[in-house]
Amino acid sequence: MQGIIVKALSSFYYVENENGITECRARGALKNKGISPLVGDFVEFSAADKKQGYVVEKILPRKNCLSRPPIANIDKAFIVSSYTTPAPNFLIIDTLIAICEYKNILPILVFNKSDLGDFTEWCKCYTDAGYKAIITSAEVGAGIDKLEGEFKGSVSVLTGNSGVGKSSLLNLLLPELNLKTGEISEKLGRGRHTTRHTQLYKLSVGGYVADTPGFSSLEIDKTDYDFKENLVYCFKEFEQYLPDCKFTGCSHTGEKGCAVCKAVNEGKIAKSRFESYISLYNELKDLKKWQIDKK
Ligand code: GDP
Ligand code: ZN
Repeated sequence: MQGIIVKALSSFYYVENENGITECRARGALKNKGISPLVGDFVEFSAADKKQGYVVEKILPRKNCLSRPPIANIDKAFIVSSYTTPAPNFLIIDTLIAICEYKNILPILVFNKSDLGDFTEWCKCYTDAGYKAIITSAEVGAGIDKLEGEFKGSVSVLTGNSGVGKSSLLNLLLPELNLKTGEISEKLGRGRHTTRHTQLYKLSVGGYVADTPGFSSLEIDKTDYDFKENLVYCFKEFEQYLPDCKFTGCSHTGEKGCAVCKAVNEGKIAKSRFESYISLYNELKDLKKWQIDKK
């Protein structure tokens, strides 16, 4: 039988399948190979014997995975910012977008608390770069239909700083969880003494959304050498200019003859995006391969 792991708790995995949700353990052989099933994994499972119950036999190939939160096969990340408390931050948004690009996750920008101010300029910056942006207000219920439409049929995570309105948006998307709002905010990292586990929630429009305790900083990939090597490709609107750089090995940080820098000067690439690239480049540039191998 096949299904998707929607919850992992202790050493149990809850696999949603055509008959409902089945509690499974992991097959010993999986553990021996050092592979742990993750929430989001598509798996094959079977009834081992009466004593043991069901076991996960095989993890199907993953599209991607994150370590914080531990989750696999993420299609979309909704990068939430808010008009105030906290105000949007280009570097945070661009860093999260870059991580998404690197992990093969489709980033969708969400600008929340639109009841407090105008997001037109912010949106333009990202739609110009080729990203989808949705303006919402969890407070007055604006843009929620659009948001819901984007969640449809995908496995999604919400990310962004604390206070931007992730829990409020989740509550609107999952009205059936209304009673458990406290639980949601605990899972998002408020309750310091609660056990955290990642869970996928099924949406009425189809698709799943995870509560995401984490994935709000670069930490997950700061030490990833390949991320450093691929950084420029994680700024997708830069890519079309790369072949025109004068020198191979151009770092695109200010060299003469750099086509990316030229596009920035001509207003074809947003200055804020370029500045975020430079910040990330500087943060990652001293990372050496041996430092990674040593880990
Ligand atoms: P989280 O930390 O990202 O989960 O953010 P929360 O959902 O807990 O929201 C943080 C605060 O912002 C709460 O006091 C919410 O009531 C408030 N908030 C959330 N969405 C909106 C919104 O669209 N407009 C306004 N004015 N406040 C909001
Ligand atoms: Zn260049």
